[in-house]
Amino acid sequence: MFKKTRPIPFELIILRILSNRSNLSDKEKLQFSNIEKGFEGEVKFDALIEHLDTLVINDLLLEAGDTLFQIDTLIIFYGKIYLIDVKNYEGEYCYESDMFKTISGSEKKDPMLQLNRCHSALRQLLQKHGYTLPIDSFLVFINPEFTLFQPSHNPQIVLPTQVNSYIKKLNKMTSKLSDKHLKIADLLVSLHKTENPYARIPKYEYDTLRKGLICRGCHSFDISVSRTRVTCKACGCEERVESAVLRNVEELRILFPEIRLTTNLVYEWCKVIPSNKTIRRILKHNFKAVGNTKESYYE
Ligand SMILES: [Zn+2]
Repeated sequence: MFKKTRPIPFELIILRILSNRSNLSDKEKLQFSNIEKGFEGEVKFDALIEHLDTLVINDLLLEAGDTLFQIDTLIIFYGKIYLIDVKNYEGEYCYESDMFKTISGSEKKDPMLQLNRCHSALRQLLQKHGYTLPIDSFLVFINPEFTLFQPSHNPQIVLPTQVNSYIKKLNKMTSKLSDKHLKIADLLVSLHKTENPYARIPKYEYDTLRKGLICRGCHSFDISVSRTRVTCKACGCEERVESAVLRNVEELRILFPEIRLTTNLVYEWCKVIPSNKTIRRILKHNFKAVGNTKESYYE
């Protein structure tokens, strides 16, 4: 049972919009694909454990002492807490004398080091609140295209070919939980920080973003508009005008939470809707109008 489900990371939501509406730099493109891929791996793992009859807490950002640490997945069993970091790496890697490298030799951030830091920070945090349940931590490599060469077996590492048997093992573990377990779960969820200072959001401005309706299927801007429907010329996907406008207004609101939604602004943002009367009707229907003049806006 998920005590806390996994939200789409805010950074990823923004990058998805910006990737359509601006030119991301190569560095930002790489960041975007890494976050997208990482999230994809986590969601894949969530699906494998969604039927576990115990408490699962996803995506926690916690603080112990001065250390902020992020947990992908935490599972509370009767006698143990499992701390799991899911990696969606692809390709051939080797792990030797505490060095994590690609097969071609370029050194990568050591995920085990990160996991172990997280492990001790979590132990410290739980101790501070009077809990001493043992913690086991694991790196789960979920991508079937991942190979790891390592000199000896490391029980903390779960390779793609071991994932199924690992899940079977989790299913067999005792999950008879008491009040104490529920309290630990509530405590951790209550300590979760929603503002992530690690999030790296690229800079963007309204003026330089590409305006227009984006197809919900293929993200093309090549849209034709009839009285009631919009149709994507690239993939043929159809949508009601109102739903397409609202979807694109939502992007505007995510990018600029402080912006005043006026008819003219939304008209400019959607670009292809032929009449601003349509825009006004949609906004009136879905938001509360503030003011009754040309300057009125919607919230
Ligand atoms: Zn399309």
